[in-house]
Amino acid sequence: MLKLVPDHWKIILRQNFTQWKKLADFLELDPSIQQEIFKRPSFPLNLPKRLAEKIKKNTLDDPILKQFLPTLAEQKQLTGFTLDPVGDTQFTKAPKLLHKYNGRALIVCTSACVMNCRFCFRQNFDYEVQEKGFQKELEIIAADETLQEIILSGGDPLSLSDTVLVHLLDALSHIKHVKRVRFHTRFPIGIPERIDDAFLNLFENRPFITWFVLHTNHPNELDDHIFHHLHLLQRKGVILLTQSVLLKGVNDCPKVLCELFNQLVNRGIIPYYLHQLDRVQGGAHFEVSEERGKELIQEIAKSLPGYAVPKYVREIAGEPNKTPLF
Ligand SMILES: *Cc1c(COP(=O)(O)O)cnc(C)c1O
Ligand code: SF4
Repeated sequence: MLKLVPDHWKIILRQNFTQWKKLADFLELDPSIQQEIFKRPSFPLNLPKRLAEKIKKNTLDDPILKQFLPTLAEQKQLTGFTLDPVGDTQFTKAPKLLHKYNGRALIVCTSACVMNCRFCFRQNFDYEVQEKGFQKELEIIAADETLQEIILSGGDPLSLSDTVLVHLLDALSHIKHVKRVRFHTRFPIGIPERIDDAFLNLFENRPFITWFVLHTNHPNELDDHIFHHLHLLQRKGVILLTQSVLLKGVNDCPKVLCELFNQLVNRGIIPYYLHQLDRVQGGAHFEVSEERGKELIQEIAKSLPGYAVPKYVREIAGEPNKTPLF
């Protein structure tokens, strides 16, 4: 089918901030504050407009801005902080298939994200050189009956066009042993309009159950408009979970975490994982100690129902699952 008008969300995407100067002007940052900005990072600035609109003016001390603005702190090289902190490159079974854990494999669908998080452990991966399509990956999945679940990750799978997603989900629908498909995404936090009618139709009459794991780190990222679009997914029978990364100066505070998790469970969305930061080069200034992380979990558990307290985990290369820290 020929589409003459681009999808609405693609038009919104063009409003993303990708030039530091434009963002600095929009946020009315004083010249003294602008000096802190890392002007030419290899992992570029990429911030959706609606997130920028939630940021306080003329300060770097904002939980959303801290996650997205490249600053000079990234240039600090620290031992232990590496380019591939979770050792993903050694588990690659096909160009875009990671089979690390029993029963489930992850397709690295795309390198594209709707936003670039400064602490992202995949920020140094270069997927773009790889060939298009998922033929090889699908063949391996079809041949391995132990794979009950396929995780679509990236990058962000919602960066793919609906056409590519239909193709992928149709192919997975034809593999009998695939009972669950899971999306790992942060896209709705930046552009909730991505979840439009065409996208929702992807989940009609599938032989598998669909899970979404939404990446969100701070209550300021959320609002009614986002929850509205997430609710449309829930009405399609999609089960929503979240994952968060524990980040210094962003969410390393019981009050912030409680507010985040309360907001989510109030909408029927279950906090699944709280991740200890992966030690990626350039991300050291975000690290919270595991000791502090455990204290935080103990603290929030006093105020939240059990199902609202996520599992606090870290990823250790070579382990058969994510390692619980608490
Ligand atoms: C985190 C991860 C998964 C999913 O792990 P769950 O514990 O099932 O959430 C699967 N594959 C890879 C490569 C991962 O990094
Ligand atoms: S949305 Fe996820 S994959 Fe994309 S930059 Fe952020 S953390 Fe990395």
